[in-house]
Amino acid sequence: MSKITLNTTEFIRPTAIDAILSQAAATPDRAIDAILDKASRFAGLSHLEVASLLKMDNRHLPRLFRVARTIKEAIYGNRIVMFAPLYVSDYCVNRCAYCAYNDCHGFRRRKLTQDEVRDEIIEIVSMGHKRIALEAGEDDVNCPIDYILDCLRTIYRTQADLSGEIRRVNVNIAATTVENYRKLKEVGIGTYILFQETYHQPTYEKFHLAGPKRDYWYHTTAFDRAMSAGIDDVGAGVLFGLHDPLFEALAMVIHNEHLEQTYGVGFHTISVPRIRPAEGVDLSTVYPNIPDDATFRKIVAVLRLAVPYTGIIISTRESAAMRKDLLDCGVTQMSACSAVGVGGYMAEKRRRETGETDPNLTAQFAKNDERSADEIIAWLMSEGLVPSWCTACYRSGRTGDRFMALAKSGQIKNVCHPNALMTLSEYLEDYASPAVKEVGYALVDRELDKVPKAEHREKARRNVNAIRSGKTRDVYF
Ligand code: SF4
Ligand code: SF4
Repeated sequence: MSKITLNTTEFIRPTAIDAILSQAAATPDRAIDAILDKASRFAGLSHLEVASLLKMDNRHLPRLFRVARTIKEAIYGNRIVMFAPLYVSDYCVNRCAYCAYNDCHGFRRRKLTQDEVRDEIIEIVSMGHKRIALEAGEDDVNCPIDYILDCLRTIYRTQADLSGEIRRVNVNIAATTVENYRKLKEVGIGTYILFQETYHQPTYEKFHLAGPKRDYWYHTTAFDRAMSAGIDDVGAGVLFGLHDPLFEALAMVIHNEHLEQTYGVGFHTISVPRIRPAEGVDLSTVYPNIPDDATFRKIVAVLRLAVPYTGIIISTRESAAMRKDLLDCGVTQMSACSAVGVGGYMAEKRRRETGETDPNLTAQFAKNDERSADEIIAWLMSEGLVPSWCTACYRSGRTGDRFMALAKSGQIKNVCHPNALMTLSEYLEDYASPAVKEVGYALVDRELDKVPKAEHREKARRNVNAIRSGKTRDVYF
């Protein structure tokens, strides 16, 4: 077994982070303008400059948002990648105070059988999804790594009607060993996702009351073990609301830098969940650090500037209105019509068909955006964006530093854009309502003209035509 002997204080130093944030509070307006100029030139920002943006007055927000959206479009173009979560097990031995699945909550726990995994996938695919995030609580007895591996195999094997299949499975499971990360890599995971929750160790210990996750050191060095095991796409996140959100944002930037310096590649994605109500969780008294909407948008946009090549993911924890606002902050990925409990997709199907709700379904948190896939796709297109179900990089071996090299050279959007148009065409052909199909194909036709390289443009056009006539699926650059 490989040993990671890194001490987290080597890259997360709370007193230094606090000192930088205090110093940044005095940044004059002139200097803020200069930092925003620098960010728009992709010149890289120092910790103090990131902190200055985090601390700046809200008067600067309109310009910050303009720069964030420009950076996102310069790197990734106007596509937004879609995904759905799949909860396979709510067994958990940890006691995270903010989570409905913490081990002192007495509800009937369950994990999906492989047949149930298959059923859930068919439901997810029927909404057009090609990419999922597999979610499970931590319990080595009821939900061991071999169970997770079986789920992954089942998911990749499941082929639904109408050309549907899941093409990329990102995995969000507890921090684990190098051996287990190797097993995940072998079976073919996309991104390994782990939320730090909070980088502030005393706060971490306050909210993680029992279980293996209580070990801050083991949790914070999980990506080091994953990268040692050959997983080169990792996805981070904090749970905004536990500690000072500005501290968390700067710490996340520093963690990213640590991975870049040590392994040559930083976070593939960053998720930005804010605490939501959940069964057994009292939001009113214990969580004074939940950022208000303006601060939250500022943080997301500053992250866009600080780590311009990293995808930023927004989930259905946020309302439709906030998800709209966050499009201006540089978000690149979004979940749609998510079920946030084990067996949730089939339960929703039964509710639609019979009107009966499943009394045993326990959601991990309360969702805030209940729109259907069709509604979300129509909305994104009306915002001038191209919804994308692309999974090409992972399947072409463009991961880790190979992916980052393309992102940093500005070339990734040359494949993101035609891939988005081809996967959108699959969606329109196989899953969309007639109204969305009509609007969607008009968008595809307009956007095809914008593909800059003639060779790519013609190939994409041929592929779109072949998808429309039912001759092909799953084509990509
Ligand atoms: Fe378990 Fe994850 Fe919930 Fe913590 S956050 S109680 S580890 S499911
Ligand atoms: Fe993501 Fe790569 Fe597809 Fe672009 S081409 S959407 S980066 S998988």
